[in-house]
Amino acid sequence: MPSEIENICCKEIQKVVKRMKQVPDPSTCMVHHPGFEANCLNPYTLQNIHNIYRADYGPLRRRTEEERNHYLAYRSFVSWCWGYLGRNVRVVIPSCDVSRIHQQFPEPAGQIDGFRPPVN
Ligand SMILES: [Zn+2]
Repeated sequence: MPSEIENICCKEIQKVVKRMKQVPDPSTCMVHHPGFEANCLNPYTLQNIHNIYRADYGPLRRRTEEERNHYLAYRSFVSWCWGYLGRNVRVVIPSCDVSRIHQQFPEPAGQIDGFRPPVN
């Protein structure tokens, strides 16, 4: 787990807090926001994110569907909270959200990785 994503709480990131406050009864953690499941865990959303990715960057090189979803869930989280980011802009995803995505779409090696923008 890269040090940049360790112990970063969702409440420490302004863009994430902004999203959290948009619901009537904000919860204490972003993983409980109704939009989290819809944007990051829903397989049909990720299917759409995959199409958008392919239109922008071409084929996504990931071996399994789970690996693909893992990666696309991070991308979806970022575009949901931050909007469009340039190719070289990196952001820190709160560790609670990284863990929840990892729990849903574990990678074969069992490691938790940080968000990496496409290298192309
Ligand atoms: Zn949290």
